[in-house]
This record gives sequence, structure tokens and C-alpha cells, in this order.
Amino acid sequence: MFLESPVTEIKSIGEERSRKLSKLGIFTVKDLIEHFPRDYEDRSQIRNISDIQINEENTFIGKVKGVPDDIRVKNLRMIKAKIEDSTGKVTAVWYNQPYMKKAFKEGVDYIFTGKAVKKYSRIEIQSPEFEVVSENDTLSGGRIVPVYPATSGISQKILRGLIKDTIDATGNQLCDFMPLWVRKQYKLCDRNFAIQNIHFPENNDSFFIARRRLVFEELFILQTALLRMKTAFKENKKGIVFENTKCINDVLDILPFNLTDAQNKVLGEIMSDIKEGKAMNRLVQGDVGSGKTAVALVVAYMAIKNGFQSALMVPTEVLAGQHYEFFSEMFGKLGIETVLLTGSLKKKEKDLILDKVKTGQAKMIIGTHAVIQENVEFYNLGMVITDEQHRFGVRQRGTLSEKGNNPHVLVMTATPIPRTLALILYGDLDISIIDHLPPGRQKIDTLGVNSSYHDRIYGFIKKEVDRGRQVYIICPMIDDNDKLDVQSVTSYTEKLKNEIFSEYSVECLHGKIKPKEKQDIMDRFSRNEVNILVSTTVIEVGINVPNATIMLIENAERFGLAQLHQLRGRVGRGNEKSYCILVSDSKSKVAIERVKMMTKSSDGFEISEMDLKLRGPGEFFGTKQHGLPEMKIANLYKDMDILKEAQKAAFDIIKYDENMEKEENELLLRELQNIINVDKVNI
Ligand code: ADP
Ligand code: MG
Repeated sequence: MFLESPVTEIKSIGEERSRKLSKLGIFTVKDLIEHFPRDYEDRSQIRNISDIQINEENTFIGKVKGVPDDIRVKNLRMIKAKIEDSTGKVTAVWYNQPYMKKAFKEGVDYIFTGKAVKKYSRIEIQSPEFEVVSENDTLSGGRIVPVYPATSGISQKILRGLIKDTIDATGNQLCDFMPLWVRKQYKLCDRNFAIQNIHFPENNDSFFIARRRLVFEELFILQTALLRMKTAFKENKKGIVFENTKCINDVLDILPFNLTDAQNKVLGEIMSDIKEGKAMNRLVQGDVGSGKTAVALVVAYMAIKNGFQSALMVPTEVLAGQHYEFFSEMFGKLGIETVLLTGSLKKKEKDLILDKVKTGQAKMIIGTHAVIQENVEFYNLGMVITDEQHRFGVRQRGTLSEKGNNPHVLVMTATPIPRTLALILYGDLDISIIDHLPPGRQKIDTLGVNSSYHDRIYGFIKKEVDRGRQVYIICPMIDDNDKLDVQSVTSYTEKLKNEIFSEYSVECLHGKIKPKEKQDIMDRFSRNEVNILVSTTVIEVGINVPNATIMLIENAERFGLAQLHQLRGRVGRGNEKSYCILVSDSKSKVAIERVKMMTKSSDGFEISEMDLKLRGPGEFFGTKQHGLPEMKIANLYKDMDILKEAQKAAFDIIKYDENMEKEENELLLRELQNIINVDKVNI
């Protein structure tokens, strides 16, 4: 039997059972032994029947006396068995399980676990779990018992049995892909011990030892896989030195504002990377509106003034257009040519721009994914900046860097990523945080309401628009390819246009609209020719229209908290009081909790920590498409310390065997493959 074998290789698993197991995500033998308990019950204490405690779970051993009674009361069928040990007797009862009548053999010791309740003057044990007492491997009692994620038709008892059988079948022969030196250095137990004791811990200590090993392993594998993907990753890579750093004063002079202390601090960190002569590889995190663009502008300028080209890659055409406007206005004053490279350019225009990029006439290149296409050649790319970079795959980031000769890399994101996740995802990057907003920003009032408030909300919107303000209305999009849902945005827009806001200008924006048209709508919105913009989350990133003061989000429960926070950041960008209204009819506790969190906090980091806690990393980015595997055992909240160690180990292993060619890492390499869907990792 191999770990990759389908579960049907196991004796007690046929087609039917395998179908049910698949609902738990269990397909292979490996999946089964890595189906870790979600909890444990300490049933190590075995009581005498005379010591059974009312209203508690009790574990006891006894023999069943005679044939159980079969009692019918209306629709209810009860099987009652008398159980005794040397200290007393007790009755166990099962409801609507007629087969219990024949479940017991005379004279055999069984171990039972169940809740005791008082019925009249007698004690009854409610539907106890039970099994024959055996010398060494009693699973359901007399020990710490695992509690698994289960599904209908696959009870705890069945799962315990299946997993036990499977572990036994592997015969302590699981190969350990963790290199020996890692195990030694970090004091990790052997894999067999870990698997055995995570399911059936001998005692508390062995459980913790097992768990530590498995958490470490999971984080180590993830981290190593991510590091391997980051093709640009190199220890102490030499970088281009920019001799002239004073030049940044030119651009600081023409900016319409002074940089904040937070912006200056980050700029300082960037400058010191460059002065040190290493290739910068830095992530700048800053809440929406914190002014990342200005930092990018200064950094790009420095590279250009030192004779290199700078590129800025963004995930959407709308955002590219907006950045282009700002950069070309600023750089225009300094005699620097900025070009915009997007997929929607006509061939002729494109060829012209490509030529300018190649000859070095264009110094500042702004674009979408179009800038990493094969046919784009740079003259001398020295600075690579990606904005809202969680939208890009790690690969795409790498591809752009490879278009230069060891360019400096700056990645910017407004997604406030919780510390643990940031460490995992950006383990190879230095991190700078713009930790406060420019002055004069107002707190955005956030309210959570249900849809019965719609009339009042519409009234409020009219009032704001009459005062000259603008409004965003966001509808959820379940899936990028979901036509139906685009339909819902358009039909909602129709309703708003025709019935509710007929005297206003209402436009609709979604992913299926052609880039040109999208740009046109955005431009008109920027010029306040459109009052109300109904949209899917395509506007989530980066859009800057200071005159917009209301962000209305429908079905708020469908969005990730971090995403809601990003959306909220689209308003409150000017001097006017701004509002974010979250509409949700969801009754789910988590959904209500999340909306409450939004109304309470305006701190992106706090919100993202909460989001991670409430929903887990799988849904953290508001979509399951980010390509990271679900954690099986590690808790990104609690296992920070182990994460740091695992990360260190991952760095070390990549350092000494970057391509995993060494023989001793062969097993590890196999484990690494398939863990991450590389093309989907969007971090
Ligand atoms: P983000 O970090 O979300 O990309 P932007 O760079 O778009 O934020 O900046 C948001 C707004 O703040 C812009 O209108 C920008 O002009 C303004 N801004 C940026 N830095 C400053 C500053 N130091 N002082 C005043 N306004 C600033
Ligand atoms: Mg931005």
C-alpha cells in the first residue's frame, strides 16, 4: 500500500464508504492519516459503575446482562441494555437503533462512554459509544480520544477505526521527508510517532510533541515551496547603486503636498537598501489612502535620474490609467517621458510605445500585465514597482524583474495582511509600513443595516448627490466568470436608473465591460459627470475620486473583511464627511460579527487579524482562488513561534540546496510538488 493509493485499498473501505469519505476531502491513504482530529476528549479516567456521575460523560467497563429490552412508544423505539460491573448496575438506552438489540455478546467486557441522566429514580446512559475491551488498542475509552471532522454515514467511531487500521497498515514505515538535520536542530519527533500520537496520543506530552512536529512540517513545506517559486530569490544579491540620491528633491518640490512622516520613514528605508548596494526587495504596506503612490513616484524618479528606466505594474487598466495621469503630469514638469502600456492599445500605438521602451526614450513605463509580455523589451530597467500586488502571482512579479538586470523591486499593497500571513507570504521581502494617513482625513462613518433600510439609504444618497457629492454602490460578484451575477449588477443598475435615481446619472462598471468603455466611465466619474457608480469589486483597488462620499455595499456578507475595508477606502479621500453603509440580511453569527467589526474599527491591520481569525486563511483574500493550501493543523494565530522556526529552516534548506538536487532532499522535493498551485498563487 502506498500513501498515494486510493482509500479503497484499505480493507474496510468499499465504493460506498469511499464516496462518503470524499466529502471530507479524503481520497488517498495519505489523506486519511492526515485527517487530523479537530478536538480530543479525555476519556482516560475509567469509572466504576457505582461512581457514575449524573449529567456528565462517563467512561466505564461492564458486561451486558441478557438480551436488551425492545420498547416502542408511538414512533420511538428504544433499546435498553442492562450493564453491570462488580460495583453496580446501570441501564444504557439507544433510540431508533433496533440493531443494538443484537450488538452485544454475553460475558464480554465492553467499554462505554456516554452521558448519564437521571430518569425517575434510575440512572440511564444516553446512546453510549462502546467497543469490546481489548488488550492494547481500545480506541473509544480509557485514553485520550480523537474527535474528527465527520460527515453523515461516517461516524467518529468509524473514522477512528479506519484511521487506526490505516496507521497500523503503514506499520511504522512512513518515510520521513524532513531532513535529519532539520529534525535534530529543531527537536522534531519522527513522523511515525507524530502521526500515531496526533490521532491516539499516549498522554498529553506525546500529543504536544506530535503536534509540534506536524505544525512545523506543514509550515516548513509551505514556506519552502513558496521560496522555491520565487525565482528572484537570491541571498545577498548585488544591486544597482544609485549615486545620485539628492535628485529626489526635484520631485519632492513639485509634489502638491509634503510627505508625511510615515511616507518619509518608508522612503528612508528604501534609500538605505539602495545605498547598501544590495538589490532591494521590499514590500510597502500602507492602508488605503496612506499615499503609496507618492512614494513610488519618488523612487521611480531616483532610478530614472540615475540613468535607468522604471516600471510600474498594476492589476487593472483603470488603475493604470489613473497612475499614468498622475505620473505623466508630475514627470512632464521634469522632462521625463511616461508611457502607458495596456492590453487594449491599438497595434500601431502599441508598436510605437514598445519602440520607445526598447530604445530607452520612455523612462517611466506604467501598465497592466501587458508589461510582462514577451514582446516587451526594456532598454535598462532598474526599478520595478508593482501596486496592489496581492493581485499578481509571484511568478508575474518575477517575470517583470527578469526584464532588467537585477533591478530593485518594490511591491506595494493596501491589503493589511496579518503578521503571520505576511511572514509566510513575504518571507523573502523586507517590509515597510506607512503607518498613518496624510493629515485632514476624516473618519468614515460606517453603519451596518438590513435591506429594510433601502428607502432611507436611497433618500440619503439623493441628498448627498444634490449637494454635489458622488456615490459608489457595490454588488458582490461570486465568481469572475459568473455571468448571472454580472446580470445582477446590470439589472440592479437598471432599477436604480429607471425607478429610484431617474433624475441622476447612474453608470455601471463590471469585469465584462471593455477596457475602453470602462476607462470612459471612470473618467466621467472622475469629472463628476456620473453621480452614482454601480459596480462589482473591479473598483476595489486604487481608485481615487475624492469627491465620492458614500460607499454603499450590498450583500456585505459576501465580502472578505479586508476587501470591505479596501472598498471603504474609496471614500473619505477628500475633505467631505464620508459614509460606508453595509447592507446585509444574513443571520449568520460570523456575518453579524464581521459587520460589527467594520463599524467599530477603521484600522486595516486590526480588521485583517479579525478576518483571519473568523474565517481562516482559506478565505482571507475574499476568494478561495489565492492558491494557498488550507492549513491542516497549523493555526496561523497561535503557531507564530513555530512558524518562525519553520521559516528559518526553509531559508536554510533553500540556501544550501536551492534547486533541491541533493539526494537527501529527494523525498522533500516530492512532498513539495503539488502542494501549491503555482499559477494560482496570488499574493
Ligand atoms: P494609496 O496608498 O491608497 O495608494 P494614494 O497614493 O492614492 O493612496 O493617496 C491617496 C490620496 O492622498 C491622494 O489623493 C494623494 O494625492 C493624497 N496624498 C498622498 N500623500 C499625501 C500627503 N503627504 N499629504 C497630503 N495628501 C497626500
Ligand atoms: Mg494606491
